[in-house]
Amino acid sequence: MSRAIYPGSFDPVTLGHVDIIRRSSEIFDEVIVGVLHNTSKTPLFSLEERVNMLNEVVSDIPNVSAVCFDGLLVDFARQNHIKVIVRGLRAVTDFEYELQLAQSNRKIAPDIDTVFLTTSIDYAYLSSSIVKEYARFGADVSELVPDNVLHLLNNKLDIDKNKREEKRDGKKRY
Ligand code: ADP
Repeated sequence: MSRAIYPGSFDPVTLGHVDIIRRSSEIFDEVIVGVLHNTSKTPLFSLEERVNMLNEVVSDIPNVSAVCFDGLLVDFARQNHIKVIVRGLRAVTDFEYELQLAQSNRKIAPDIDTVFLTTSIDYAYLSSSIVKEYARFGADVSELVPDNVLHLLNNKLDIDKNKREEKRDGKKRY
């Protein structure tokens, strides 16, 4: 049985990610979306929120599930009998970093391979950072993220906005 992992931050998951997930699910028997617990980044969504939103997004794809992991990706892969890492490539700018990542992973884990899927042209420009930036300034991101994520994003940013305003005003706002 072929089992692959699609790792990332998914903060939040975008339609570009979903496209890669769907296409991988047709190539591999099982795809695990691995949400990385990265202590060097401060995410907008907690690890639990990201795993939950992903599981909701993939609920109609029977061979895909989302989990969180920390530590080395290749260690997690080995523990779970995963032989393939899936990554998405949007543009040449992704390539250098992705190549370095794939080669260093291969160096420490020659039994695990990285497979790249090139982005669908519709999502070539899309990243989680762009979604967050647009949404923060009130732009419509409904065509960039799944419906459940749109809802969660709007709620989260409202909360953040309230917190910022509270801090600024030194009092609670409702
Ligand atoms: P990371 O923090 O590891 O970059 P991301 O959540 O940003 O994680 O992305 C995870 C993977 O999905 C990476 O391989 C990235 O290149 C890929 N990816 C991100 N956005 C897109 C997109 N719009 N189309 C295709 N692949 C994408």
